[in-house]
Amino acid sequence: MKFGGTSVGTPNRMKEVTKLVTKSGEPVFVVLSAMSGTTNSLVEISDYLYKKNPEGANEVINALEKKYMKHVDELYSTEEMKSATREFLISEMNYLRSFTKELFTSFEEKSIVAQGEMLSTNMVVNYMKEQGINAVLLNALDFMRTDKNSEPDPVYIKEKLTAIMEKVTTPLQDQKSESEGIQVFVTQGFICRNAYGEIDNLQRGGSDYTASLIGAALNAEEIQIWTDIDGMHNNDPRVVDKTEPVRHLHFEEAAELAYFGAKILHPTCVQPAKYAGIPVRLLNTMQPDAEGTTISNLTEYGKIKAVAAKDNIIAIKIKSSRMLLATGFLRKVFEIFESYQTPIDMVCTSEVGVSMSIDNSTHLGEIVDELKKYGTVTVDTGMCVVCVVGDLDWSNIGFETQVLEAMQSIPVRMISYGGSSYNISFLIKEEDKKRALQSLSRTLFNE
Ligand code: ADP
Ligand code: ASP
Ligand code: MG
Repeated sequence: MKFGGTSVGTPNRMKEVTKLVTKSGEPVFVVLSAMSGTTNSLVEISDYLYKKNPEGANEVINALEKKYMKHVDELYSTEEMKSATREFLISEMNYLRSFTKELFTSFEEKSIVAQGEMLSTNMVVNYMKEQGINAVLLNALDFMRTDKNSEPDPVYIKEKLTAIMEKVTTPLQDQKSESEGIQVFVTQGFICRNAYGEIDNLQRGGSDYTASLIGAALNAEEIQIWTDIDGMHNNDPRVVDKTEPVRHLHFEEAAELAYFGAKILHPTCVQPAKYAGIPVRLLNTMQPDAEGTTISNLTEYGKIKAVAAKDNIIAIKIKSSRMLLATGFLRKVFEIFESYQTPIDMVCTSEVGVSMSIDNSTHLGEIVDELKKYGTVTVDTGMCVVCVVGDLDWSNIGFETQVLEAMQSIPVRMISYGGSSYNISFLIKEEDKKRALQSLSRTLFNE
């Protein structure tokens, strides 16, 4: 069970989480995010320290300390737990302050940003213990690890976590006896160590990824992502007024939606669950009995499920008569992107040119300079990928017409279909996004 930032965002929410994890009476493994807003504050502290402004950093730390100290009286009832938690908070805040005196690099930044999840897990576990729950706090830094390509290392994670679980788990019959109580294992989302043993993380929103990696490592029955909305909606609820929850998604559909902007899921979090064949459920902490969304291997034949959009996309076109009937042209173009570690999202080709979209502009200048050796290059920034997801197998007829009808008044820069049977994507201007998403909801879902 993974609980996101809003789900642990206040002392009351932490109490609700505690109720939810003990409800089934079965042993559960719990992954927590930082309280909402905390990771942003930690990033802000790091920004000040990069800019050599320790006063700015200290101001944010003081505000954070005040906020957390206020939670103590609301959350705990015993003086003993209040003072233990206050002591823990003081040591955490002093740890953050210690960075204001040191040389500041990305290594220190990673250590700072990791503290949000340390704070939330310690606070919740202390609350659980106060409630008499058999809660076990596990440090994610002891088993979550990435490899040299900064990708999670599932073999290491499984090995380490299994060994840890063997040590800390008591036999189920003892747990079920009154003296022990059912065990609740709690760990931090998002944070990990890299291949060199340094503190690192799985990128913003990465707690979902932690949960699916752990679920796969432990061969869980189900991976539950608890958040602040009733499952995956059929369009972006931040942009479109009327959206509805989608009850079932295929792993591939969920992966496409997450990758193309549905913030409810971290882009890569579906993969470990898919490989392990473990269903993922998206559930709402504010409405625990709502059905949510189940992600599994099932496809609903011919059904268009949802729309998502991703901003800050750049389109690059390279046109050259040299491409006509030439072999190896695309390879040369793709190699340039590869040498700058810039993934390409969409590709459309014609006999005399190729258009690609990327979302990482770090090496845009260098890439364009090199592409110019092969043809005329055009760059469009401020673009947006709109992605329609569902069972779009090519043997199903008619979905292209439906989708294009919705897009009829929108200028479209690129269209991509055929790479997967689960999505058709359009590249449009960011300023047309809202209109496009609304029109797609009206046409595809009658909303
Ligand atoms: P958490 O902190 O629990 O990880 P997030 O903020 O990362 O939660 O994700 C939940 C949010 O995702 C929702 O509040 C909603 O605004 C946003 N969201 C974007 N697209 C979708 C979608 N298609 N369905 C549901 N939520 C979405
Ligand atoms: N706390 C991290 C973030 O805000 C990770 C997460 O919440 O998933 O990005
Ligand atoms: Mg999230």
